[in-house]
Amino acid sequence: MQTEECERIRDAVKPKIIFATGNEGKMREIRAILGDMDAEICSMKEAGIQTDIIEDGKTFEENAIIKAKTIAAQTDAIVLADDSGLEIDYLNKEPGIYSARYMGEDTPYSVKNKNLIDRLAGVPDEKRTARFVCAIAAAFPDGQVITTQGVIEGRIGYEEKGSNGFGYDPIFYVPEYGCSTAQLTEEQKNRISHRGKALEAMKLELKKRMS
Ligand code: IMP
Repeated sequence: MQTEECERIRDAVKPKIIFATGNEGKMREIRAILGDMDAEICSMKEAGIQTDIIEDGKTFEENAIIKAKTIAAQTDAIVLADDSGLEIDYLNKEPGIYSARYMGEDTPYSVKNKNLIDRLAGVPDEKRTARFVCAIAAAFPDGQVITTQGVIEGRIGYEEKGSNGFGYDPIFYVPEYGCSTAQLTEEQKNRISHRGKALEAMKLELKKRMS
């Protein structure tokens, strides 16, 4: 058989993994990490799926499961979904699962970040601890669901620093690197980020199940 034909047949039988996101940046990170799996990785858009999902879970994990199961009901593929956010210890883990909606979905992050810094006025370094958390859920065609989680620990800074990344990155200071996550390159951040860690853990689980 010709090599090309072999490749065509192999691609046709590759398991398909759909990641439930419309965010291109996330898809880049997902492809970079899951790219070496023997599977076809595609976005919801590429899979032709469009749904509004009500994220009414009480934890990152519950929300990721809700998203993965909702999409899985519309396809025979394996569906991955994530949910993430920022927990600030001094603020009883706010904004937490409401990170995207904090102060309103359309409020610029410069305003949200300033508000959080103001709420920590006078709070010393050791009490400014915070973390980004990411939960990933995988829903399989047989109805099984598994989850993984990744965390990056840091502290809330005193001013916004850096212009890479997005969201709360400019106020999230990582002591080991001596800078905010908005001052890291995309590659550096992916290596140590909550999402990077959750994705790596999910890749191990998927490889186990697909071998
Ligand atoms: P999502 O669940 O990944 O869409 O993230 C929810 C929200 O958490 C985002 O809209 C941001 O506000 C915040 N967030 C999650 N991950 C990060 C990050 O890596 N940097 C900055 N903000 C983040």
